[in-house]
Amino acid sequence: MKDFKTQKLIGLLKENKIKRFHLVYNQKTGKVEASHNVLQNLADFINQDTRDFEEHEGMFFQLTDKYDVLQGAFVHRTKRGQAAGGVRFWQYDNVEDFLRDGMRLGKGMTHKNAMAGLWWGGGKGVMVHNPKFDKNDKDYREYVYTEYGKLLTSLKGCYVTAEDVGTSVEDMANIYKTTRFTTCIPENLGGSGNPSEPTSRGVLSGMEAALAFLGETIEGKTVAVQGMGHVAEPLIYHLFSKNVGKVIASDINADVVKAVKERFADKNLVARVTEIGDDSILFEECDVLAPCAVGAILNDNTIPKIKARIICGAANNQLENHDKHDKALVEKGILYVPDFLTNRMGIVNCANEQYGYVNNDDFIERHLEKEWDFSVYKSTLFVLKEAKETGEGVSKVAIRQATDLSMQLHPIFGHRSQKIIDSLVAVKWFE
Ligand code: NAD
Repeated sequence: MKDFKTQKLIGLLKENKIKRFHLVYNQKTGKVEASHNVLQNLADFINQDTRDFEEHEGMFFQLTDKYDVLQGAFVHRTKRGQAAGGVRFWQYDNVEDFLRDGMRLGKGMTHKNAMAGLWWGGGKGVMVHNPKFDKNDKDYREYVYTEYGKLLTSLKGCYVTAEDVGTSVEDMANIYKTTRFTTCIPENLGGSGNPSEPTSRGVLSGMEAALAFLGETIEGKTVAVQGMGHVAEPLIYHLFSKNVGKVIASDINADVVKAVKERFADKNLVARVTEIGDDSILFEECDVLAPCAVGAILNDNTIPKIKARIICGAANNQLENHDKHDKALVEKGILYVPDFLTNRMGIVNCANEQYGYVNNDDFIERHLEKEWDFSVYKSTLFVLKEAKETGEGVSKVAIRQATDLSMQLHPIFGHRSQKIIDSLVAVKWFE
């Protein structure tokens, strides 16, 4: 499937005059079926995949009339509610990478939402940027995102989108022009605003739980932070508020480093600018390592050199190879707090926008406190405890717990989004 180029698929769709198509899981046959015979090879590829595919309920696609942008809505599991997760705008050279990213990220949202106790299912949007056009062109983006909104409207609410990598606040405003099935709309339209500050507090909660698991507190500890952006900066602030001994931080952007250094000039912050590829921050002598920049940094090259006792950060998908590196961390005696547990506040922040806002909202704050069973703190403790008992990787245990939770039916609507999917198939949605 790696040989099947995205542009070739787009050509095939145009040749066959296909504007929309779907790949939907048939519960009776236990197989994914394509809406069009000519696309059955995509369904076949998914059916034989055991890594990223996990009975995803439905995957829906459209090709835009202008600019030839392929847009996907990947609905993983909706027992807890409508599939919720952001939309990513990225360049994909081949169809396999595109499908895999959508399936993997959709499944990840099922885990994140369930573990956070949200009554949402999991899903993800992925759109393939057409390299013939300038990604920053205003008209291009406006068109792409308003068309994406139309796709969501046509899907009748089985997937509700949000912001993600490559998608900005203005893009969300464009989606909102053509659909109600979105969260994370701009604040001036009633949205919840930037979630980075609560995300940083989620990370802090995860660290505190891991330290409590070891019978310690964060006071006086040394924390190394990779990246000094929107999450890391408030994280550094909260760390100093908790009287950590020292923060070591790095960023590839000199302006960012300068600004953060100035802000914390009176604190014990050692910050440096690093080149891309310089991962030396990961190998600092410290108690806690907080990856807050990019994913896949826990891998064969880095894990042997990490000296931290705990890893807990905001970056998505920190383990390069899920099973292998999860185990490698256990073997090295490092406590890893899975990213989808600590960085949930992005989705938590915007998940309930339609219910309005109150100050110090309990629906937000309870995730960051220690009492609630679904709080970051308690979930982290549950996961670490079970992992210790079974000797398994922490991430493996977390996914098992999240999967169990994702099977619970929404208390009011039950498995309604599955009914939506069934009705889309019944009326030949793609026509
Ligand atoms: P950001 O873009 O504001 O900050 C990331 C920073 O990392 C940037 O300043 C960038 O220059 C720096 N960086 C990039 N590569 C680096 C490298 N190799 N070494 C050191 N620094 C590097 O992003 P953010 O909003 O702070 O998010 C940080 C991470 O957390 C991302 O992986 C993001 O996907 C994830 N995340 C964020 C949120 C949120 O609420 N913002 C929610 C969930 C997950």
